[in-house]
Amino acid sequence: MHNATSPILPTPILQQGDHVLVVGLGKSGYAAVRFLLAQGMRVSVSEGGRAPQLDAEKIQWLQEKGVYCEIGGHSSELFSKVNAILLSPGVPLTLPALAAARAKGIPVFGELALAQDFLKAPVVAITGTNGKSTVTTLVGDLLAAAGKKVFVGGNLGTPLCEYLAGPQEAEWVVLEVSSFQLDTAGNFRPRVAILLNITPDHLDRYPSYGAYAASKWSIFRHQQSEDTAILDGDDPEIARLLAEAATDPASPFAIRSRRAIVGERTVGIGASLNGTVAAIREVVPGAAVEEYELAGTPLAMAPNSHNAMTAIIAARCCGCSPKAVQRGLAAFKPLPHRLALVAEVAGVGYYDDSKATNIGAVVSALEGMRQPVVLIAGGLDKGGDYRIMRDIVQQKVKAMVLIGSARQLMAAAFEDLIPIVFAESMAEAVDKARDLARQGDVVLLSPACASFDMFENYGHRGEVFREAVQALRSTPRQVRGGGSPCPIVEALVA
Ligand code: ADP
Repeated sequence: MHNATSPILPTPILQQGDHVLVVGLGKSGYAAVRFLLAQGMRVSVSEGGRAPQLDAEKIQWLQEKGVYCEIGGHSSELFSKVNAILLSPGVPLTLPALAAARAKGIPVFGELALAQDFLKAPVVAITGTNGKSTVTTLVGDLLAAAGKKVFVGGNLGTPLCEYLAGPQEAEWVVLEVSSFQLDTAGNFRPRVAILLNITPDHLDRYPSYGAYAASKWSIFRHQQSEDTAILDGDDPEIARLLAEAATDPASPFAIRSRRAIVGERTVGIGASLNGTVAAIREVVPGAAVEEYELAGTPLAMAPNSHNAMTAIIAARCCGCSPKAVQRGLAAFKPLPHRLALVAEVAGVGYYDDSKATNIGAVVSALEGMRQPVVLIAGGLDKGGDYRIMRDIVQQKVKAMVLIGSARQLMAAAFEDLIPIVFAESMAEAVDKARDLARQGDVVLLSPACASFDMFENYGHRGEVFREAVQALRSTPRQVRGGGSPCPIVEALVA
């Protein structure tokens, strides 16, 4: 299990000539080695995978540079004789070989801690259970629309170490940050930190939900009064922790930085919604209330309207003009497999939300839906409690088609509320959903589960869904509801 509170590390963590062990030799680990060598460090590597799976050219290059490589396992002996240990993003803190090193007081840290000492540009960091990739991309787009040189990456796209190893030309660094990265973040202090939401996830890797929430909150831990914290106050867990911090000055959830709160009806520093207009207040000291129109952009509907508000505040804190922000909002293209309209077939909208791999993401997707929903869900269970969804399912879902190994478990949570059918494949699920939907309804793939029992990943699951929706066109059926049968002819959304 992860320990959510990473220990305070020395500042700076590394001294020239230190012997640093890089654990994990993926893209990020390899870039870290290049960076550390350029800083004059002595570097060793420990990689759990076997040599044939690794790039032979990479290994040869490492050997030429005098990097000692331990391949196919991790030895406590190597871990205990270095000055510091840098973990690649996917490596768990529970790795047995780390225990002896930590007992000896050897600093163990991740790339965010390294960035704190070596990044030249200020950072906007984004975390939360859901919406990180969307907001990270949007903040990057808004900064770019304002003509700022920006690096966008971290947990998304290019690893941070790769940027660190390069010429570092960006004026702003925008990072998607996972809870696992925060657990090894040391003294990481983002200039702007965003916490979107906290709902149960990764409970297989944390000792408790409280530990997971504390990990997310630690994004604010080293911020000072010149920094800005942006939080979504409509998220019940965030609202609860903010209230706890307000009544208890010694609360571990206290925040030292300037706080901007986002919400449907928030007052004070932050943002609220008036229909499709985001009103931003006092984010830039002395500025009048600013209004941004979200209608006509993919950001008009919840949860993206909330994502937009956080991103607008971040962009304004980074010095983007309101005009540039509005331009960036209008040009925003949503990422694939996040509430993306695939097609309208016979008056039914088919939405691909395959990236919704936890319960919170499905709840927010359903909250944003105005039409009755036939929900396609299921997959590999991640240990959450599906009953959290009961209220919203009762309000918005008219029927469910369940796939994958979690389907019995999910059915048990909802079978007294709505009709439920099972399907063996995505094609069958889409077919059955089509039979259950009436004109004006929505068929939503929003699984609340991981994909690995039936698909390579969430992207593959979304593509198979898209293909199945496309196949509906070639197997026309009569539409029920709306009166007369009509042929299925609708545009597929590119
Ligand atoms: P992450 O990088 O955190 O996984 P994504 O932007 O990839 O987030 O979106 C993942 C899923 O979460 C999508 O299904 C999306 O519809 C949903 N989602 C996006 N933003 C939010 C939000 N603010 N609150 C809840 N769910 C969200």
